Amino acid sequence: MADFGGGDNEAFRADVRAWLEANYPPELKNRDAVVHPEATWGGRQFAGNTTDPQLIWMRKVAEKGWTAPTWPKAYGGGGLSKDEARIVEQEISRGHYRAPLASFGLWMLGPVLLEYATEAQKQEHLPKIVRGEIRWCQGYSEPGAGSDLASLATKCEDKGDHWLINGSKIWTSYANRADWCFCLVRTDATKKHEGVSFILIDMTSPGIETRPIQLISGESPFCETFFTDVKVPKGNLVGQVNGGWEIAKRLLQYERQNISAGFGGGGSAGGSAGDLGQMAKDYVGADETGAVDDADLRARITRNKMDFQSFYLTLNRVAAETRTSNGPSAATSIIKYAAASLAQERAELMVELMGNQGLGWEGEGFSPSEIVATRGWLRTKANSIEGGTSEINLNVVSKRVLGLPDPK
Ligand SMILES: Cc1cc2nc3c(=O)[nH]c(=O)nc-3n(C[C@H](O)[C@H](O)[C@H](O)COP(=O)(O)OP(=O)(O)OC[C@H]3O[C@@H](n4cnc5c(N)ncnc54)[C@H](O)[C@@H]3O)c2cc1C
Repeated sequence: MADFGGGDNEAFRADVRAWLEANYPPELKNRDAVVHPEATWGGRQFAGNTTDPQLIWMRKVAEKGWTAPTWPKAYGGGGLSKDEARIVEQEISRGHYRAPLASFGLWMLGPVLLEYATEAQKQEHLPKIVRGEIRWCQGYSEPGAGSDLASLATKCEDKGDHWLINGSKIWTSYANRADWCFCLVRTDATKKHEGVSFILIDMTSPGIETRPIQLISGESPFCETFFTDVKVPKGNLVGQVNGGWEIAKRLLQYERQNISAGFGGGGSAGGSAGDLGQMAKDYVGADETGAVDDADLRARITRNKMDFQSFYLTLNRVAAETRTSNGPSAATSIIKYAAASLAQERAELMVELMGNQGLGWEGEGFSPSEIVATRGWLRTKANSIEGGTSEINLNVVSKRVLGLPDPK
């Protein structure tokens, strides 16, 4: 491919489009294509699999560096400008291609490694993230440290030639399937924020145990994670000892930006079940003009759709601002708060308009899409908790965006 180096965007777009068309595995064009349900997350479990079309797709895109289009080529990324990366993203969406790779490494860890890691750490971890070879989980929350994250107690002791970790984490999404964990640990018990460090842990290290916890929706995507005398190499600590809090906060900004885009897309909001307006006509009926035959419901659906439209426009504006700045800011808390509220409202409307059919958990009385919708609605209950609760995000907005003082 020609080197467009930020110049001719239309030529670049045509080139991206042609490449995607030529390289998308034909099997994936069928929406019901048989892929391993976890394939999109990559990781060691798929290292030897060369036949799953989702993995073939992931590896082809990764070879071009387009799973992480703006990361430097030296670390396996695409070396593209932010505008070019946006074009790749738009063309993947326009062509209805599957996302090549879903990854906490891409969304959260990689960006902070680029900012804070040593050259050796970047060389070690970034290319494997780009290629989807290592699946990461996030070890932040603890039984006594959620919103007040800096109360975390997992102990990390300097043993001279290694770190020794003891403690436990909770709500660790996909810990039982992850290869590595980026983790917050306490390296100084006499200080709060200034006693936290950021460390990378191989989940195959002896002394790590994960126990899955079930969500209200029936899924079991997160775990309790226990660390008992886990030895971690000295070189795995990122940034300064006791300097992890700054990295932790930066990573949360990336996390909030990414999960907001996910809620907006309706993934965990049950939005994949269908368009609310059409669903309302199917379940409630249409009047003689073809509109939903319930004025109040119609008005609330319309408002939710308009609010989502405003949300998308704001999301695009924030993304454009991010492209011309040093990455996300505390303003991502506004987006996270709005995305969670809208996704929950949409899911509430969906089960309401479905009537009794919105109460399906399993069984013959409900179609598969009705069961997905009901479980999706239950899943949205977590939207205002994960990645920082709505209350905490409002606190961040008042303090860091509006500059209001702490309550006395
Ligand atoms: C689906 C899901 C996935 C998750 N994945 C991960 C993961 O991969 N890794 C990880 O580390 N964590 C993960 N979490 C944990 C998540 O980050 C925490 O649940 C969240 O930060 C809240 O912490 P908590 O559950 O301890 O609630 P608490 O902090 O105990 O909060 C309880 C309630 O009190 C409110 N509250 C607390 N403090 C304040 C305050 N100062 N002002 C106003 N209200 C307040 C909260 O808003 C909330 O309503 C996940 C959670 C969910 C639901």
